[in-house]
This record gives sequence, structure tokens and C-alpha cells, in this order.
Amino acid sequence: SSDPPLDVDFLDPHPGIDVNAVRRNFPILSERVNGYPLVWFDNAATTQKPQVVIDRVSYFYEHENSNIHRAAHTLAARSTDAYERARDIVARFIGASSAEDIIFVRGATEAINLVAQTWGRKNIREGDEIVLSHLEHHANIVPWQMLASETGAVIKVIPVDDSGQLLMGEYTKLLSDRTKLVSVTHVSNALGTVTPVHAIVEEGHRAGARILIDGAQSVPHTKVDMQSLGADFFVFSGHKIFGPTGIGVVYGTEEVLADMPPWQGGGNMITDVTFERSLYQPPPGRFEAGTGNIADAVGLGAALEYVERIGIDNISRYEHFLVEYATAAMKKVPGLHLVGTAAQKASVVSFVLDGYEPLEVGKALNEKGIAVRAGHHCAQPILRRFGLEATVRPSFAFYNTCEEIDRMVAALHQLSADAG
Ligand code: PLP
Repeated sequence: SSDPPLDVDFLDPHPGIDVNAVRRNFPILSERVNGYPLVWFDNAATTQKPQVVIDRVSYFYEHENSNIHRAAHTLAARSTDAYERARDIVARFIGASSAEDIIFVRGATEAINLVAQTWGRKNIREGDEIVLSHLEHHANIVPWQMLASETGAVIKVIPVDDSGQLLMGEYTKLLSDRTKLVSVTHVSNALGTVTPVHAIVEEGHRAGARILIDGAQSVPHTKVDMQSLGADFFVFSGHKIFGPTGIGVVYGTEEVLADMPPWQGGGNMITDVTFERSLYQPPPGRFEAGTGNIADAVGLGAALEYVERIGIDNISRYEHFLVEYATAAMKKVPGLHLVGTAAQKASVVSFVLDGYEPLEVGKALNEKGIAVRAGHHCAQPILRRFGLEATVRPSFAFYNTCEEIDRMVAALHQLSADAG
């Protein structure tokens, strides 16, 4: 290769993170896999949980467990307080102006389906246009296709350049008075591209559209602030930000939520029911029918407080260093091709290796205790944009280290040499 020898001195990690100390907060990182210390590089699929989150969920079941809102007894008060406190923490974490802008759902997938089935059914008509991007996860494609087939709306797609960044000039051309919604990811789960969300929101609003930002891959890695972002909706999953599975968030502005009909009907979401009619709670209760995932909402609150203690800016800076370090080292592996080389990237380094199917690379790395995702990452359109059906995708969190990256790169060099 004509690249200069790997020299990381030019990188400025300013880590702000004592990685050995934070690793001790995550018990699973002491696991051994196939005789090796586990290397968890599948953070874009799900993150590992710190002891404080595990303990918080246990504490809930040991001391607070009750259904919320309904009863007059002490445990109902405890569980309701814990659940509503978690809502307050989420609101603070993303800079929402009120906890009432926060709806708990199962995850980003359910979040987008909720918006499509409530706001979408009320506001989208035949001939209206929904603008997505080529980078979207299937969770931000399929719910809109379902809505479009019900309503006769049309889906338009913002293309990307060869680095995997959105072509903003093309975005501008797609916008018109027919555009009712723009729904775009903040960070691509397949390539790691960070999209220019502020400009997306600004231009979309100028065209009169509502904007949804899929933050599933951004909240764990970068500061988000609803006040400066100005989107109408923002969604994310708890399990990708060190919280439990089965809990996620829809943020909506007061203005849009107030005008949105409910989705599922049932207990908790009403103020009064007769056989003739039902009256609904104001948001967010209107959108939380039945018994939700109370314990895991509380666990998500603990996860976000943990991230606040580490500091999201420290996390961003350290992970940026890891991505640069990994990219520089991986470029030196003969036959390795990076997929997605945008200047702004968060935590994901997708690649293919000559002579191997991505799944074979994933299995070979697993033999050395290294967990990466190999496949289409639920984002087939963007991989096909690059002529691929699958990639290998290591993705990092702030508990990962340069030594772990070195182990992966050494294994890739070996595979590359074996392929001849
Ligand atoms: N959006 C993006 C960008 C994602 O990466 C994911 C998960 O990989 C989702 C949405 C869906 O999240 P979940 O499966 O937690 O609902």
C-alpha cells in the first residue's frame, strides 16, 4: 500500500475518558468468547449495559414494582414516580422543553410506526409526498410505504454521493408544496454517515413540511438538543444507548402532539369511557395505552444519567478518535474496501474484504472473540447503492479500546494473507 505507516500521533484523542475505569462498569465486558476476552464491536445493533442500569431494573422489581397511575397504594406511587422521573430525565437529556413531549414506546421502530399511523393517517393524503433518504434503516422506510399504500401518497428519496453523504442540492429539488413530511436519519447505521440534520430541518420547514429525525444511531454518540434542532419529531431506542431493550422514545413538539389522534386504544390513555364514546388523555398519556414497559423506562433513565456522568462530549471525542484510529489501520489491510467514507462519521466502519463473504469474515472474527455485525444491517437500499448485499460492520462505543481495534485488524491482516 502507498499509505504512510500508521502513525496515530497526529490524532488528538483528548480522551476525557478513563476507558479502563468505564470498562469495569460493564460486567459483560469480562466475558470470554472462544477462549478470548470478548471484543464487543456490535454497538450499532445494541449496546452493553452498565451495572447501574442492571441494578436499577432489579431495584424496581425488588422495591417499587406496581402498575402505574391507577392505585392509591404506596408501591403504585413509587412506580409512578420512578416512571415519570425517567420521562423527566429523557426530556432533559434531549433538551425537550417539557416531559409531556416524551412518549414511551418499545423502540425506534415502534416510534416511527406510531407517527405514521397517527400523525400520518390524519395528515397525509393522495398525491402528498414523503421525503426519505437513501441511507434509511428499514424502520424508516417500511412504515411510510405502508402509509403510502393506504393513502396514495408518494415516497421520494434523497440520493447520496459516493462517500455516502446526502446530496443536499438534490434534497432542495425534491421539496415542494406537496412535501408533507421529511423523515431522515441523523446517523446511518450501515455506513456511519452523520447527516446535516439542522439544514434538513430548516429547508424542510421552509417548504412547509413536518420533519422526523431518526436518532437511533445518534443519541449514543453525539449531543442532541431539540431546541436547536427544531424537528417536529425525534425518535430513538433505549437499548442502543446502554439502556434495556423494549423501551424507546418518541419526542414530538407540543404543537404536533396536541393535534395527533391516539394509536392504540385501551386503559391509561382515556379520561372517560362510555359505550357511546371515549375521551382521551392529553399527550403523552394518550399514546401510552395499556401497561407499558415500566421497569425498562426506569432503566433507560438510569442509562441516560450514566451517560450524563461520563459526558456526551467526552464520548463523542473519544469515539471520533476510535473511528479515525480504526479507519487508518483498516486501510492498510490488503484487499479491504471501506464502504462509506463521508467526512462526518459516527462510530461505524463498514467494509468488505476481497476473497470473503461478509458472513465469513464475521465468523472468523468471532473465533477470536470479536463480535461484529455481518449482513445487510436492515438497510438494503443503501448497500445496493454501493453494489453490495452485505458488509462487515464493526461499530464502537466509549468502552472500546485501541487494543481491541488492533486485535481485529491483526485478524483481518491474517484473513487477507490467507486469501492470497
Ligand atoms: N433506525 C436506525 C437508524 C437504526 O439503526 C435502528 C436499529 O438498528 C432502528 C431505527 C430500529 O431500532 P429498533 O430495532 O431498536 O426499533
